[in-house]
Order: sequence, then C-alpha cells, then structure tokens
Amino acid sequence: MRELLEIVQVDANCIDAMQPAAGEFPLRVPRSYAARMRKGDPADPLLLQVLPLHAERMDVPGFAHDPLRETGLANQGVLKKYRGRALLVTTPACPVHCRYCFRRHFPYADQVAARDRWEPALRTLRGMTDVTEVILSGGDPLSLTNRWIGELLHLIEGLGHIDTVRFHTRFPIVLPERVDHGILTLLSTNQLRTVMVVHCNHANEIDSSVRAALEAVARTETVLLNQSVLLKGINDNADRLESLSRALFSCGVLPYYIHLLDPVRGAAHFDVPASRGTELIQELRCRLPGYLVPQLVREEPGQPGKTAIG
Ligand SMILES: *Cc1c(COP(=O)(O)O)cnc(C)c1O
Ligand code: SF4
Repeated sequence: MRELLEIVQVDANCIDAMQPAAGEFPLRVPRSYAARMRKGDPADPLLLQVLPLHAERMDVPGFAHDPLRETGLANQGVLKKYRGRALLVTTPACPVHCRYCFRRHFPYADQVAARDRWEPALRTLRGMTDVTEVILSGGDPLSLTNRWIGELLHLIEGLGHIDTVRFHTRFPIVLPERVDHGILTLLSTNQLRTVMVVHCNHANEIDSSVRAALEAVARTETVLLNQSVLLKGINDNADRLESLSRALFSCGVLPYYIHLLDPVRGAAHFDVPASRGTELIQELRCRLPGYLVPQLVREEPGQPGKTAIG
C-alpha cells in the first residue's frame, strides 16, 4: 500500500487508506495500471477502485458477505442461474483486486472448476442440454495459461450443444500485455461464436496499450462489449459516463451493462442509489446514440436474469 501511494505521489495523511489484515481481500494492482493514475490526486478514479480504505471495515446494514446468495449454487464450478447460459468459474485469480467486487468473499477454494476438476465441470455441462452459451468467469479466465484455455475451448466445442463462448475479463483493461499472440490465435481459431465482455469503469483506464489490445481482439471477429459498475466518486456523473462510452467505442467496444453495486460487505462507500442511476442513464440518452448507452441493471438473488432499472 505504501508503495502504491508512493507511485501515485499521494500523501498517506490525505487519504484514509488501510492495510488489509491477513485473511482480508488483499491489495492487488499491476504497475502498468498504477502508471495510468494521476499523480498527486487522492481522488483519482483508478486509485479509488483499488486502494483499501478504512471505510471497508464499516458494518453497514444490508451489505452482506454473499449478497447474491451464490454460495452453494455452483455445481463443480458451473453456475447456472439463467436460461440457456451457464457460467464456469475457472479460476479464483484476478489481475487486480477491485475493492467493490461482489466476489471478494467468495469461497473459491470449494467452487472452482480448476484443471483437475474440468472433467466434472464438463460432465455437468454435458447434462445441461438446454445451455448454448458458456460464460468463462472467475476470478478472471485470462489468469489461466493459453494452453489451459485452449484445452478448455476444445472440450467445450466437443460438447456439441454449445455454440457460443463468452469471456468475462478485466485483463485487456488492467493488464493489456496479457492479450498476446497465443490468446489472439485461440480467439480467432476456435469453432464457437466468441464474445468478450471487458470491464472498464472510467475513460482514464484506456491508454494506447489498452487500445492496441482491444483493437487486436476486435480483429479476431470477437464481439467486444463492456460492463461497468456505477461507483460513487468514480463514474457517477454524466460527463464521465459519456467519456467512457465514447472512449470504448473508439476502440471497437460497445457498452453493454452498467451494474448497480451489489451490496457486498466492505463496499458500501461506493454505493450510488438506483434513482441517481436512472437519472444518469436518461441524461446519457440525450447525449449519446442509443448504442452507446449501457443498460442499467441490478442482480437480485433468485431472479431468472438481471433486473433492468429505469
Ligand atoms: C450476469 C450473469 C450471466 C449473464 O447474463 P447476461 O444477461 O446474458 O449477460 C450468466 N450467469 C450468471 C450467474 C450471471 O451473473
Ligand atoms: S476483476 Fe472482476 S472478479 Fe476480479 S476483483 Fe475485479 S471485479 Fe472482481
């Protein structure tokens, strides 16, 4: 933490940072992402996404360890909440630890379809004959090596009833170096329709290396979408959301979802009320073409899909 504050040249006295204790969600941020933060600005929107603050220790009513009640839902790393789509929890690892993440308390050790457990996960998927799309999630599926990803894609192709594979990944945004020749080859040569949903919350996250990575993915004919989270102090104003949509589009990415924060314990200080979210989306509809306005959604436990707001 001290090192991060040194890199961004922020005085520890200006910000209510804390060192996570053992067993808490640790600080994790790639240097190349930290390099995109504005120096000397304790309110930098990239810094605030990754810096642990004392506010995380507040116990706020309604903010729970498992707000989506997913614990216990996964079967061999396969989570099927929505019709036709199954989510595969491939790895617990992420390139960055986003402080608002709803998976910060997820018991991955029990529920990851890791390498030695792919066979059980595949068996589960084989039985889900109504599923046509597999969503590779985690953690972040690009934490796996290209060889593992290649094997997994091959196994999914072999199931027969799956026609689409979707990657949910933050790598192209936070560590674009990961988008190497190997992964690009897998994206362009697999036999499935391929969708990649990246996760970017602020236009400052996109620099020339991110742009190059996204453009390279777009050339593989992968459909590129973005999801973001509406976060207090980071992107909860119309100017910032407009800039984000325009920056994404200039790299070939369409905005897909903007999520209301999941009420996870430790993230209450990021919360933006749904009514404010609705106002912002209405403002965006005036400013942007419809295809650059993301859908505002919330996840509610037990619902058959995301709930659209406004
Ligand atoms: C969000 C999500 C999906 C995908 O939903 P889409 O609306 O198709 O993007 C699938 N499974 C789970 C468990 C999810 O949380
Ligand atoms: S990359 Fe995604 S899964 Fe990982 S910590 Fe950030 S929001 Fe959570």
